Amino acid sequence: MNEPATPLASWAPTITSVTVLTGAGISTDSGIPDFRGPQGVWTKDPAAQALFTLDTYLADPDVRRRAWLARRDHPAWHAMPNVGHRALVDLERAGRLRAIVTQNIDGLHQRAGSSPEKVIEVHGTMFTVECLSCQAHTPMREVLDRVDAGEEDPRCAACGGIQKAATISFGQALRPEVLSAAVAAGRDCDLFVAVGSSLTVHPAAGLCLEAVNAGARLAILNAEPTPYDAYADLVLDEPIATSLPLLVAALTS
Ligand code: NAD
Repeated sequence: MNEPATPLASWAPTITSVTVLTGAGISTDSGIPDFRGPQGVWTKDPAAQALFTLDTYLADPDVRRRAWLARRDHPAWHAMPNVGHRALVDLERAGRLRAIVTQNIDGLHQRAGSSPEKVIEVHGTMFTVECLSCQAHTPMREVLDRVDAGEEDPRCAACGGIQKAATISFGQALRPEVLSAAVAAGRDCDLFVAVGSSLTVHPAAGLCLEAVNAGARLAILNAEPTPYDAYADLVLDEPIATSLPLLVAALTS
């Protein structure tokens, strides 16, 4: 743990509104690997990034075939929320939570009990499918049933277009209204907490500075250093299962 310039205990009681940015690291204890941590999907297999790049996805039927199988076999279908997700439910119940801006697509904040209206899914959700031609939405389970029945690349039932999980791939812009809500939550808090994110994916990572420039304190909870540590009032590199309940307790006691 870095020694903060001003100790947490001295400023925690002044905090009334907290925005939390979560990344893949909050879900690793639920059995969902992150991308860039030591056990990350891309750390172990850099070629797996092709499944998350829009151009490659559109151009290569084999990438789509593999992506559908990856969605079907994704650990989120069976994962349970962990103490990190539950600590954020406690923060909400204590009346201190402005919003959770999550880069995760796994739905575990809502399953832990966070109010859906408090959770801003900036990178979308893996439980919905979107047609890239007509934008029709379909439940993922329905489309995966077609995969199980033998379709390698199930096309849109309405227009025949290529479909993809309703998540943001590299090369795809964030939905403007979702990004606006995230920026507003970043600017409108007195503490911004980034949890389990390498803070290398933009624009989500840039919310740290949106918050700091608007006058908020910044806390970063991540096992590895991030590009924003120098701006933080508090950096905790312990496991999130330890650091997040500790921070929430300090903010709510
Ligand atoms: P990332 O993989 O870039 O970084 C995760 C960070 O969390 C790493 O620095 C790692 O060291 C840290 N970490 C992992 N487990 C930890 C723990 N228990 N305690 C403390 N630190 C821990 O993740 P990112 O910044 O979220 O960016 C990856 C992108 O991939 C995001 O856009 C996200 O949408 C997506 N993604 C989502 C999921 C999910 O929904 N659960 C999983 C993988 C990737």
